[in-house]
Amino acid sequence: MNALLLKEYKHLEMVEMPTPEIGMDDVLVRVRTCGICGSDVHGLDGSTGRRIPPLVMGHEAAGEVVETGPAASDLKPGDRVTFDSTIYCGKCYHCGRGEVNLCENRMVLGVSPGEYRRHGAFAEYVAVPRRIVYRLPEGLSYEAAAMVEAVSVAVHAVNLTPVVLGDTGVVVGTGMIGVLTVQSLKAAGCARVIAIDPDEGRLKMAREMGASATINPKAQDAVAVIKEMTAGRGADVALECVGAAEPIRTAINAVRKGGAVTLVGNVSPTVEIPLQVVVSRQIRLQGSCASSGEYPAAMELMASGAIRVEPLISAVAPLAEGPSWFDRLYRHEPNLMKVILRP
Ligand SMILES: [Zn+2]
Ligand SMILES: [Zn+2]
Repeated sequence: MNALLLKEYKHLEMVEMPTPEIGMDDVLVRVRTCGICGSDVHGLDGSTGRRIPPLVMGHEAAGEVVETGPAASDLKPGDRVTFDSTIYCGKCYHCGRGEVNLCENRMVLGVSPGEYRRHGAFAEYVAVPRRIVYRLPEGLSYEAAAMVEAVSVAVHAVNLTPVVLGDTGVVVGTGMIGVLTVQSLKAAGCARVIAIDPDEGRLKMAREMGASATINPKAQDAVAVIKEMTAGRGADVALECVGAAEPIRTAINAVRKGGAVTLVGNVSPTVEIPLQVVVSRQIRLQGSCASSGEYPAAMELMASGAIRVEPLISAVAPLAEGPSWFDRLYRHEPNLMKVILRP
């Protein structure tokens, strides 16, 4: 089969590889679409230590079943499917509690951090365990399905956030996950969602995707504006989708007494937080990692139109053009959101 291989750091090449073998409960999927994730782009140069070459990356994918192991035969050749990026073991303490994102033996597709190497979906075929595979609802395209992983991250974060109908929510950072979080908060019942980002292009996208108001912190004092919009109280909840000190401080200062802040962004290993604000205003801080069983919900929300992903797809290109698209993303070409490759 054809595959896009990270041969060495910063060097992607189309190569011929053996089609993966499948085990008892595996499914062999003919990949139709696979999105380039920010983590793949960061992984390109070795800075994250999680994409040790040689490796086929890619974990945001969809395609059709071509073959199944004997224990996965409820799926049939031709079934349209997507699959979780997290391969959980199904046997450990956390899997037993349904917290599959916290699995002790968690592997991520298209990742090789040293302890394991799991080739991903920038290839014609990928083999995945049955338990992470989901049938696509009718009407959900393969292109949209490549976005289910990202949507599930936003849905998971909102599911961990105590939102009630009519709340005011804040989203700090409106990149891909931030914009999906705006839509998820609206779907969860927020009457107002206020989006904060220093990039005007991203704010425009956030408004188009349902943000009731947007604030550019370079031009305005975000916390003051939010207080003004909420009778001086602050928002009920805030979701931080950057992962850096300044936006986390903004999220904490933007919520009311007793409010909740969910931390989704994961860039800085450590940040300083305003401890006395958190304690004396009794603010709940909640971390959110990947997703845990939210794939079906994400797909239903997409199929129903409650969460739209099409405006976030910047390009769909053949797999062979992968190296140049990676390069453009690596160089931070402006206005590029999701790029999807078709093996
Ligand atoms: Zn991803
Ligand atoms: Zn487990």
